[in-house]
Amino acid sequence: MAILEVKNLKKYFPVTGGVFLRRTGWVYALDDVSFTLNKGKTLGVVGESGCGKTTLARCLMGLYNPSEGEVIIKGRVVSKLNSQQRKKLALNLQMIFQDPFESLDPRQTVKQILEEKYIIHGKNSGNLDSTINRLIERVGLLPDMLSKFPHEFSGGQRQRIGIARAISLEPEIIVCDEPVSALDVSVQSKILNLLLELQQKMGLTYIFISHDLSVVKHVSDRIAVMYLGKIVEMADANDIYNNGRHPYTNALLSSIPVPDPESGRNRIILKGEVPSVENPPAGCNFNTRCEYVQNICREKEPELLKNADDPNHLTACHLFHPPIR
Ligand code: SF4
Repeated sequence: MAILEVKNLKKYFPVTGGVFLRRTGWVYALDDVSFTLNKGKTLGVVGESGCGKTTLARCLMGLYNPSEGEVIIKGRVVSKLNSQQRKKLALNLQMIFQDPFESLDPRQTVKQILEEKYIIHGKNSGNLDSTINRLIERVGLLPDMLSKFPHEFSGGQRQRIGIARAISLEPEIIVCDEPVSALDVSVQSKILNLLLELQQKMGLTYIFISHDLSVVKHVSDRIAVMYLGKIVEMADANDIYNNGRHPYTNALLSSIPVPDPESGRNRIILKGEVPSVENPPAGCNFNTRCEYVQNICREKEPELLKNADDPNHLTACHLFHPPIR
């Protein structure tokens, strides 16, 4: 069953300039993004900085109002809900942030941090102390740590506190915004395994945002690759990893270190910088960096289309190349 549907979502930001701060253009942060996510599954969203991943997260969390398009949660169109209904819906959608230190109030103890949501949402009746004790144990920490402050913990422990806060009110959907990118590699896998364990036990649905395709592949059922505000490829995680078709996906895949140096995977170094979202290239937005660029790529924008041999695999490219690995 689809728990989350995103239909033709667009988010534009005005660019202003001059003495009177008149609008001089638009930043196309999110441009016609659509996907469906079933309950208990994970959609990984991957791309370089500035590709629109964080704008997507903020639109889903209701922190930005979309310029166009719809977010539909459990069949309810978010933009058509009144503020009371939106507040109720917000309990069902929580976020885990990239930097756990920034997102935890340094003046509060862990107990105060975890109690806050129960109190704000009037769910503090009954034995709140034992609820908090169970919550902290659920993320692999001990109840006697509750009296400590965030600075007394390691990065991995702080992220566990952030996860405990996100699951405290038992939401169904969690948006994970680069949840392990600020952590040491040795700690990353422990946090990823905790997220997978919680998903299994609580039936959670994740949107997992990262710039690192190897991390996204580890946790995702399906992966959307984003470039300059658009999804350029979307398929099941294994299919993206073993049969990536868009040249940008293949460049990302080629940067994943492999244990076997004889594997034959060649690193694809992309030319140039990511173009400005304020002034994206005409036609295919990847054409300024693509080694396969043709005339049509500069003239016509490719649509995100189902592949003839696999309708579950969508690609936005005028040419379908075999995997470059
Ligand atoms: Fe490259 Fe053209 Fe495909 Fe864009 S449409 S990714 S420029 S081959």
